[in-house]
Parts: sequence; structure tokens; C-alpha cells
Amino acid sequence: MNPSHIEHIGIAVKSLEEAIPFFEKLLGTKCYAIEEVVDQKVKTAFLRIGQTKIELLEPTSPESTIAAFIEKNNGKGGMHHIAFAVESLEDQLEEAKEYGIKLIDNEPRGGAEGLSIAFLHPKSTFGVLTELCEDKKK
Ligand code: ZN
Repeated sequence: MNPSHIEHIGIAVKSLEEAIPFFEKLLGTKCYAIEEVVDQKVKTAFLRIGQTKIELLEPTSPESTIAAFIEKNNGKGGMHHIAFAVESLEDQLEEAKEYGIKLIDNEPRGGAEGLSIAFLHPKSTFGVLTELCEDKKK
């Protein structure tokens, strides 16, 4: 597999309204996009730091996996996943399967910012929920 860089780091938060001003101060930059991803039951906010982004994830429903994650983490949330930028996501998923990595998404699906995304199972990745994303608009 050959990701080019860390596309973003996902952080689960209870409230974007509270988290955005903090991360704007921490990173010295403004949040440039807020987007709801309906099928994942989350609202996302993005800040850029160099080539990488910080993706803040707020659950929009108690059934959201992000809501469950926050509950498990003392109701506070925390680091949720790391996302690597790849080319030809389908091929990368094939390769991951050949390595015996368990996939959450066997096929790419639509994520925030119009990216194609797929998650690898944390059971296969040393407990780190790992996302691969491809920018097909490039
Ligand atoms: Zn993500």
C-alpha cells in the first residue's frame, strides 16, 4: 500500500459549537467547512494544518457510531480515526484484503468533502480506526 500523506485526523466532539473556537485558537486558523454527512449521522467541521486537516465529528443522532464512541470515552470524545490519502482506493482495498486486513467498507463510499472513503477495521490495525480516502476530483 502507498498512501501519500495523512489526509486528516478525525476527532469526536460532543459539540462543534464548543470545539471549533478551541481548535481555531489551537491551530491559529479558521474552520473552512462544516458539512453534514447524513448516512454517517455526523456533522463535520474541517480545519487545515499544512497538508493535513483536522476533522471534528459531532453526532447528529444517538445511534451515530460517534455518539457511542463519545459515551465510551467518559462522555468526552477524543481521537477517533486517522485518514491516509491514497490513489485508486479500490486497488488499495484489494491490497489490504490480500494482507489479511479486515475491512469495514468493502467498497468505497462517499465521505465529507466529496472524497471516496473506506474504513479498515481497528481489530486489524493495532486498534487505530483507519480511513483511506481518494480525491477523485484531482
Ligand atoms: Zn475521516
